[in-house]
Amino acid sequence: KRAKSDALVLFGASGDLAQKKLLPACYRLARNGLLPAQVIGVAATEWTDGEFRDYAISSIKLAGEDIEMDVLDEMCSTLSYVSGNYLDPSIYQKLEQKLGRNHRPIFYLAVPPDMFEIVVDGLAAQGITRSARLVIEKPFGRDTESAIDLNTHLHRHFSEDSIYRIDHFLGKEPVQNLLVFRFANSILEPIWNRNFISSVQITMAEDFGIENRGSFYDRIGATRDVVQNHLLQLVALLALEPPASSDPDALRDEKLKVLKAMRVPSRDDFVRGQYEGYRNEVGVDPMSHTETFVAMRTVIDNWRWAGVPFLIRTGKYLNTTTTEAVVRFKEPPSRLFGELSSKSMLPNELRFELKPSERITLRLHVKQPGSDLIPMPVDLEVADPEASAGNSEAYEILLHDAIRGDLSRFARQDAVIEAWRIVEPIITDPPECQIYYRGSNGPESSFRLVENLGGWSMWG
Ligand code: NAP
Repeated sequence: KRAKSDALVLFGASGDLAQKKLLPACYRLARNGLLPAQVIGVAATEWTDGEFRDYAISSIKLAGEDIEMDVLDEMCSTLSYVSGNYLDPSIYQKLEQKLGRNHRPIFYLAVPPDMFEIVVDGLAAQGITRSARLVIEKPFGRDTESAIDLNTHLHRHFSEDSIYRIDHFLGKEPVQNLLVFRFANSILEPIWNRNFISSVQITMAEDFGIENRGSFYDRIGATRDVVQNHLLQLVALLALEPPASSDPDALRDEKLKVLKAMRVPSRDDFVRGQYEGYRNEVGVDPMSHTETFVAMRTVIDNWRWAGVPFLIRTGKYLNTTTTEAVVRFKEPPSRLFGELSSKSMLPNELRFELKPSERITLRLHVKQPGSDLIPMPVDLEVADPEASAGNSEAYEILLHDAIRGDLSRFARQDAVIEAWRIVEPIITDPPECQIYYRGSNGPESSFRLVENLGGWSMWG
C-alpha cells in the first residue's frame, strides 16, 4: 500500500482547467475528508493567499456545487498561493518554504505542455522531487518520438510509478462500468470473442465545432485530441483479457497487450475529414489541413479478436452529440422465419452509451404480435438516472487516486507510446481531408470502411 500524499501543489492554479475542474474537485474531496491538509496554487498571476481563496470559492460556485459553509471554510484553510514565473528558480524556493515539513507532495501540472519539462527541472533543481508524485495532463507528446523524449525527460527526476498521466476519460463512471459489466457478468465472457462478435464500433460525435479553441485545435486535430488517448483506451477496455489481479499494473499490462496487438491502419483503413468553413474559424490557418473528423478501421491480431474489425469514428459538427461503443454480434446461421424476417431482423448489439446519457442496451428479437412468426427487434435497457446523478466527477476520482497512490486509471508510458504507433500514419504524411457538411454524418467516403459490415451503427 502506498503512502498518502500530504500536500497538493497545483501548477496552473489560475488557468482554465483549475477553474473548471480542479478547484471544484478539491471541494468535493474536502467534503469527503479526502483532501490533503495543504493545497498550494502556483502560477504567474500575482495573487495573495486570500485572492487565491476568493478565486477558488468563485470557481466552486461557478461549477454549480452545493456549498456547505463549514466544508468551504475547511477547504479554504488548506489553500495558499505562490506567484511567479516557472522559468525563475526562486519560485521553487518559495514553494519549498511553503511546503515546510510536508515531503510527499503531488505536483499537478495543469500548465501548457511546453512548460512540463521546465517545471520538472525546476522542482528537481530545488531537490523536492524525491518522495513526490507528478500528475501531467494530456497531450503526452505530439507523436511517438516526442512522447519518448518527454518520458525520457520526466524519468530523469520521477520514476514511472510516481508519474500519473491523466486521461480524464478513464475517471468517468460509465467508462469504468465497461470493466465491471464485462467481468462481473459471467454470461458475457463465453461470447466475447471472434466466434460471436462481428465488429466493434466506437463513436465520439459532437454536433458543435471547435468553439473558441481554434488556435489550440488547429495544431492538434481530432486524431491527437481524442483518438490517440480516449478512444484507444476505450478499445483497450473492451478488448482486454481479465487482469490477473487487482494490482494497477495487472490492468495496465492487459491494456498494453491489446494495443500491442492492434494493427496500424493502412491508407485504405482511415478517412480524414474537415467540416465546411473550418478554415474560416478564428485562430485557424486559412490553408489548414487539420482534421476535424477521422474514421479508422483496425484489427487486434490476437487469439480472441483475430479478424474482428474495430472501427473508430469521431468528429466535430456531426448531426448529434454522443459517445458510444457498440458490439455487434454475428447473425443466426439460418433464417428460420422466411422472407419477412430478413427485413425485420437486425444483428444483436450491445450498446454502451457514455454520453449524453449513460445506459447500456442489448438488442434482441421477440415475436411480432399476429398470426405469423415474424421477429422484431427490442432493446433491453439498463439505465439508472438516479445513479448517474450521484456520480463522482472524473477529476475528483482521479485526484483521489493520485492522493492515495493508485495508478490503475492512469496511462502508463508504454501504452502511450503504443497508442502513438497506431495513429502514426494518420498524423504523419496524412492524405487530404474530405470536406463534409455541418450536421452530416461526416464524409461520404467514411462509409466505405464499413462496406460488408452492415454499415455504421447509427447513433441514438
Ligand atoms: P491555461 O488556461 O492556459 O492555464 C495555464 C496556467 O499555467 C495558468 O495558470 C498560467 O498562469 C500558468 N502558466 C503558464 N505559463 C506560466 C509561466 N511561465 N509561469 C507561471 N505560470 C504559468 O491552460 P488550461 O486550459 O488550464 O490547460 C492546462 C493543461 O491542461 C494543458 O496541458 C492542457 O492541454 C490540459 N488540459 C486542459 C483542459 C481544459 O479543459 N482546459 C482539458 C484537458 C487537458 P497565469 O494565468 O497566471 O499566467
